[in-house]
Amino acid sequence: MANVELRGIRKRYGNVEVVHGIDLEVRHGEFVVFVGPSGCGKSTLLRMVAGLEGISDGELRIDGQRVNELPPRSRDIAMVFQDYALYPHKTLFENMAFGLRLRKTPEDEIQRRVMDAARLLKIEHMLERRPAALSGGQRQRVAIGRAIVRQPKVFLFDEPLSNLDAQLRHEMRSEIKRLHQRLGATIIYVTHDQVEAMTMADRIAVLSAGELMQYDTPDAIYNRP
Ligand code: ADP
Ligand code: ADP
Repeated sequence: MANVELRGIRKRYGNVEVVHGIDLEVRHGEFVVFVGPSGCGKSTLLRMVAGLEGISDGELRIDGQRVNELPPRSRDIAMVFQDYALYPHKTLFENMAFGLRLRKTPEDEIQRRVMDAARLLKIEHMLERRPAALSGGQRQRVAIGRAIVRQPKVFLFDEPLSNLDAQLRHEMRSEIKRLHQRLGATIIYVTHDQVEAMTMADRIAVLSAGELMQYDTPDAIYNRP
């Protein structure tokens, strides 16, 4: 678990600024959802936290340490992508183990962590299959499993349910909430779906055109008279 602080975070592409000085703090163990319409800068913000995009201005801290210059692999975060980003030629087991192998984790530790995550996600019976043999919901479970086995300080989710049908979205919402409670993880979750924001978040950051409009509990944002 860790806290994440964004202080005056800006992003410019060439001369065009698309994120205009965002200040917010995500507390230890908190589930924060960034919500807002397409193009408001949610993804860019998340990718800056992940280290996949450079930060043009401002400071990003994880547990008090400035991480602006740290490469993604050194940030102790794990990201779940909308398109799952699985390796098609690897088995589910190897997809989940990959990040640990890169980091030279001992084999028995890899076995243990992958099996634990697979049980948690109820995919332990399909670990020798390849992604093509899975449904969308199962693929998303593998993508989540790959993040869990890393035991990162912070989980980042980028519209993870957008490619699923309504029924599966509903199921996976509960599943991800359950994981949050089980793992006590710090989570930043990006979506354009207000229902996801309302039902999953401890706090919601409402973004519009690169600015933070509101940062509060779902109740305060949606039910305030
Ligand atoms: P969201 O995730 O909320 O849909 P994005 O973070 O993807 O929004 O995009 C925010 C803004 O930044 C948009 O106006 C988008 O067109 C612009 N943008 C995103 N990536 C790039 C890029 N690589 N080059 C130039 N502009 C970009
Ligand atoms: P792992 O160690 O499991 O590979 P990391 O978080 O260290 O995980 O690295 C994941 C890398 O994968 C990122 O650096 C990113 O560049 C890349 N990546 C994979 N899928 C995507 C995607 N859909 N969009 C953007 N980047 C991706």
